[in-house]
Amino acid sequence: MDHSLLHSNISQVKNRIASAADDINREADHIRLIAVSKTKPADAVRAAFHAGISDFGENYVSEAVDKCVQCSDLDITWHFLGPLQSNKTQQVADHFDWIHSVDRLKIAQRLNAQRSREKKPLKVCIQVNMPLEESKAGVVSNDELVELAAAVHNFDRLDLRGIMAIPAPCSEISRQRDQFRLIAELLKTEGLPSAMTELSMGMSGDMEAAIAEGSTMVRIGTDIFGARYT
Ligand SMILES: *Cc1c(COP(=O)(O)O)cnc(C)c1O
Repeated sequence: MDHSLLHSNISQVKNRIASAADDINREADHIRLIAVSKTKPADAVRAAFHAGISDFGENYVSEAVDKCVQCSDLDITWHFLGPLQSNKTQQVADHFDWIHSVDRLKIAQRLNAQRSREKKPLKVCIQVNMPLEESKAGVVSNDELVELAAAVHNFDRLDLRGIMAIPAPCSEISRQRDQFRLIAELLKTEGLPSAMTELSMGMSGDMEAAIAEGSTMVRIGTDIFGARYT
């Protein structure tokens, strides 16, 4: 990918974040920009890093680990965003700083057991799937959320931080906001640990709506790296 295009994409995304934050009097600094580099080569990660991005998100374990290794000279914070099978938890425990897609106890247990004592505890968001979105992973009820959160909170190698959601794509901003508002309200569910303050929500097509409803982490792929063909 052309580096000047990458630079201009990144500044446009940062401007959109700043202006969405400004609209509701939020500090843009409190919204973490995660560049989603899935399917893109390590060179693209390196170029985006030099253009001012320090958080990267990946979805596929083996592809991600290759990039983590190839970019190990860079001070990158790596976020795992995708569905995770239990036979691949070790790689996530070894290479990532965050996982946004914990949706069941077994995965949390394995990550906790596998996270090295030499590293900081793995930061965790629980993926929610409410309102129910057939094609997506995530916990589907408040009870399930409270139960899983309590378990993660008690694991000493995991650091529970918040929730992540991928609502159904839609082009109308008022509907996007309705969906994000419901997700944001889940953080107020009775019985959730107060450590849960992060809202990982908003992608290329709906980041403004997500920020308007309180997102603290937006995950942007297409609008930074261009379309994905695989
Ligand atoms: C691919 C992906 C993104 C980025 O989506 P874009 O629409 O390309 O910005 C964000 N979050 C998750 C979980 C993803 O899988």
